[in-house]
Amino acid sequence: MCESSPTKRARLSLIKPIIKGIGSILIVILLPGCEVSFYKTFRGDTMGTYYRVVGQCRDSLTYQLLESELLSLTSVLSNYDEASEISSVNRSESIGEWVPAHETLVTVLVAAQQISEQTNGAFDVTVAPLVELWGFGVKDVTQPPSTESIKQELRRVNYRLLELDENNNTLRKLSNIKLDLSGIGKGYGVDHLAEVLDNQRCTDFLIDIGGEIRVQGHNALSNSWRVGIEVPDGTGQSEVFLSLSSGALATSGSYRNYRVFDEKSYPHVIDPRSGYPTSHNLTAVTVYRSTATEADALATALFVMGFDEALEFAESNDVAVALTTWDADSEKHGASYSTAMKALINEGN
Ligand code: ADP
Ligand code: MG
Repeated sequence: MCESSPTKRARLSLIKPIIKGIGSILIVILLPGCEVSFYKTFRGDTMGTYYRVVGQCRDSLTYQLLESELLSLTSVLSNYDEASEISSVNRSESIGEWVPAHETLVTVLVAAQQISEQTNGAFDVTVAPLVELWGFGVKDVTQPPSTESIKQELRRVNYRLLELDENNNTLRKLSNIKLDLSGIGKGYGVDHLAEVLDNQRCTDFLIDIGGEIRVQGHNALSNSWRVGIEVPDGTGQSEVFLSLSSGALATSGSYRNYRVFDEKSYPHVIDPRSGYPTSHNLTAVTVYRSTATEADALATALFVMGFDEALEFAESNDVAVALTTWDADSEKHGASYSTAMKALINEGN
């Protein structure tokens, strides 16, 4: 643990040690220059983005362990690896038959289907054909898809066309569906690393994969972890901060990944009901949940819903949610918070 005198604390808070994730809307405050600390920091690349782990552990935590765990995850879940389990499920032509599947894959798909049920299909991993059609898959596209092709692909987009048997680790496609785990994979990766850290008897940690974050315990100054939610209003200052000692935060938004066709911008989150990328005044949704898997998938689902439906969902399900918006008429950014998120923000200040 970092020994910290009052003067040192004051100095640290003045330095503004903010490290921003690449393109992330969440800001984590880490502590530099901690001479007597058993906290170790690891950084690297995974799932097409960065990972960062900060932890204090009784047993050894090494790059080798983290990298091999992440590699074994991506060998199951990555749509970008042709040899992965998910790619082979997507290629498989067996329809109507129960086929064996990797335990991790079944676990992630069960979690995904729970969120699909809860959100009335706003989150749906069978959205893959539409993701590809709009150019967010492995192949690039130069034209927006035709109405006819969207209509055609929509027929095989429905999470109910996939059946799962968790007891036997098998799955069954009821149609020629294709799965895309990008909306939940990073969150699952964060939770998986949390388990790995638990096994290494890490009491305090922060895990971040591409802006999906999970924390436990305290930072090196024995304080709760401070995570800021950025409101993109151009001032660079309007951030609200949460002080967290457990739980996960995930963000979905239109600010990071989008395509432009005929000068119109299309974000990478697609409404599985219409077949079109989301088009509304929301710029980002940040969700706090106990697990990163749930936070990640819910953030995507709430982004699909749009402002009114997302806020209503958050209120009726008691979910802590921050919504940032852009009003094209007044050219102003805005931010709104669900009741549960307001309570979290107040606790942290
Ligand atoms: P990020 O990957 O930036 O964290 P998300 O978690 O919102 O953002 O995931 C978006 C990705 O999920 C898209 O790039 C696409 O691959 C996939 N996706 C798009 N729309 C949906 C949807 N409605 N349900 C599930 N996955 C989706
Ligand atoms: Mg997501």
